[in-house]
Amino acid sequence: MISLRWRVKVWRSAKFVQALHIRGFTQANRNSTISTTLNLHGTNLKETSNIYISLIQQSKSMEEIRNIQTHMINNGFPHLRLGNKLLNAYLKVGCLGYAHQLFDELPQRHVVAWNAMISCYIRQKRSAEAVELYRKMELEGVCPDDFTLSCVLKAFSDVGLVFDGRKAHGKAVVLGLEVSNVFVGSALVDMYAKFGQMRNAHVVADRVVAKDVVLFTALIVGYVQNGQDYEAMQALSQMSKKGVKANEYTFTSILVSCGNLKELCLGKLIHGLIIGGGHESGVSPRTSLLTMYSKCGMVEDSLKVFEHLVNPSLVTWTSLIVGLAQNGKEEIALSKFSEMMRSSVIPNCFTLSGALVACSSLAVLDQGQQIHTIILKLGLHLDKFIGAALIDLYGRCGCVKLARLVFDGLLDCDLVLVNTMMYAYAQNGFEHEALELFQRMKDMGLDPNDVTLVSVLLACDNAGLVDEGRRIFDTFIGSSNIRITKEHYACMVNIYGRAGRLQEAESLISQVHNPDIVLWRTLLSACRIHGDMTMAGRILNKVIELSPKDEGSLVLSSNLYASKGSWSQVIGVKSWMRENRLKKSPAMSWVIIGGEVHTFRAGDCSHPKFKEINYIIMELMKKVKDLGYVPATKFVLQDLDEKEKETSLYYHSEKLAIAFSLWKTSGKTSCIRIYKNLKVCGDCHAWIKFVTTVVGIEIVARDMKRFHHFKDGVCSCKDYW
Ligand code: ZN
Ligand code: ZN
Repeated sequence: MISLRWRVKVWRSAKFVQALHIRGFTQANRNSTISTTLNLHGTNLKETSNIYISLIQQSKSMEEIRNIQTHMINNGFPHLRLGNKLLNAYLKVGCLGYAHQLFDELPQRHVVAWNAMISCYIRQKRSAEAVELYRKMELEGVCPDDFTLSCVLKAFSDVGLVFDGRKAHGKAVVLGLEVSNVFVGSALVDMYAKFGQMRNAHVVADRVVAKDVVLFTALIVGYVQNGQDYEAMQALSQMSKKGVKANEYTFTSILVSCGNLKELCLGKLIHGLIIGGGHESGVSPRTSLLTMYSKCGMVEDSLKVFEHLVNPSLVTWTSLIVGLAQNGKEEIALSKFSEMMRSSVIPNCFTLSGALVACSSLAVLDQGQQIHTIILKLGLHLDKFIGAALIDLYGRCGCVKLARLVFDGLLDCDLVLVNTMMYAYAQNGFEHEALELFQRMKDMGLDPNDVTLVSVLLACDNAGLVDEGRRIFDTFIGSSNIRITKEHYACMVNIYGRAGRLQEAESLISQVHNPDIVLWRTLLSACRIHGDMTMAGRILNKVIELSPKDEGSLVLSSNLYASKGSWSQVIGVKSWMRENRLKKSPAMSWVIIGGEVHTFRAGDCSHPKFKEINYIIMELMKKVKDLGYVPATKFVLQDLDEKEKETSLYYHSEKLAIAFSLWKTSGKTSCIRIYKNLKVCGDCHAWIKFVTTVVGIEIVARDMKRFHHFKDGVCSCKDYW
């Protein structure tokens, strides 16, 4: 009997709803349908309620629910009887406004209703309002349950309310939910992690009795986000000891720590677990895997992971490009960047600055400028991150004016930007501009840091401001918030070295605790330039004692002895290098023309266009000799006769690269840019100065140490490098 009546009711309401569907959902139709049906059923309240409930459950939009509610009110139906049903329906379609109105009217508000409201506010990222509601609930004396607490704890962490969070924690303890309820436990761990209070998070996690994967993952994610990678690893091992199986999110987080700690073995193990657990198709674990491999320097593996992804997301592309750029695979990074652009994925600031870093390292101006155009199109040119990368790029390509243009275009200036701009000036020999910026920085109230000091010293070095450099260096030493490193000492040694004050440089090194090879080599280089054989011999002994296989220093000494004609000593150094199987890395210069890289080695006649190159070199030789160029045969480090020495100078890699550029561009260019893996040699330096006068073209050479801007017969380095 009961079942029959029930069936009739269902049939009736189903028929009623069916009628609604047939009549096409218009406002007028629906109201009249509802009335007709209600009349059909008389005034039985329970039956009417059931029909309304059925209608509410089937409603799919705010308008439909609103109509039902209006209908109830118009027909004198006590709609608050179905208040919770209506409330849930409004919340289901995400309509918080009407839901809240209705919620305020409810005569009795059970904790379930509060929970529904609070959780909906949080879902809509309106955590501050959720907190307000929770406070009202407390005032009304409604006791929160586990669901309320786990929701509101999230709201507290979103809004940053540490005190309220702790109070709610207290409540959880009183209600016995902290230990017994894993949802509340996890929410507490998550909240403390977001407040950066990992000790508290750890204590809570320890107390929870039935620990599950959500709890452990919250703890691990917290450690990773707070940079405590070792602790994250410990939590993982605790988790596996408890027999709790990790999920996709656990793997995704722990891989970040593996990358940071360069724990390749564990990373690989997790890779295996990801495959075994069938999580391999997930984008997040794959992106984390890729990042882990590239942080561990395993570029090939990161590329392999990438190849298996069907539709890589922007995050994945970015992670790949940044990783490649950081691992010295700039060319692949740039080719992946073009691939990404072709697949219509729009880059963000991180992708773009990753690509710019690759361009800077390769000093490829063309590609860098193409990326700059993309940045302008996307309207991201005011981003500081991008700004710094662009300034660095132009600085490294020797385009100081463009770097300054970017710098001036940025609305507000910070320490990183000023430092980057100062470094661009300093490495390009624009020392006055660098020092001017240093002054401006102080006027702006920015506190200089250790990076600033490198640029300032570099600028003082270029400008020959020995005493000024020393004064600034001493002020920095006295300041407590700057860590003076060996790099700063090396700058200072260079400053003394350039000025020929070798004794002072040596005494400065003696003040350094455990001076490293770089410092001695810097001084050795100064000895070579100033021809101080006695000091050079002394320092070479120290260098050999410290690091018997330091090629750089050995080559330097060999060059010094050769320039003084002390061939027996040259032979001594060379045989030492041979015995120790040390080889001088071959000098190499390259130019980039039309996006193509052309590389030249000293004395290499095998280039397909050698005939053309040779012709240009010979032509230039005639002209520069007329202007007073004398081949500096002292730079030939072999025991040859004068004529042979002179000819060997003709085919230094710098000269080959410049001659090739002139031929390739038919001299129709305003600037030639060449790159060299070692320092530019003295003869080439002099030769290039004369060449700029002959051809009227600016030549920018970047060697391993700095830039040389050659123009109208002078170089920006003022002949010291
Ligand atoms: Zn040379
Ligand atoms: Zn120079």
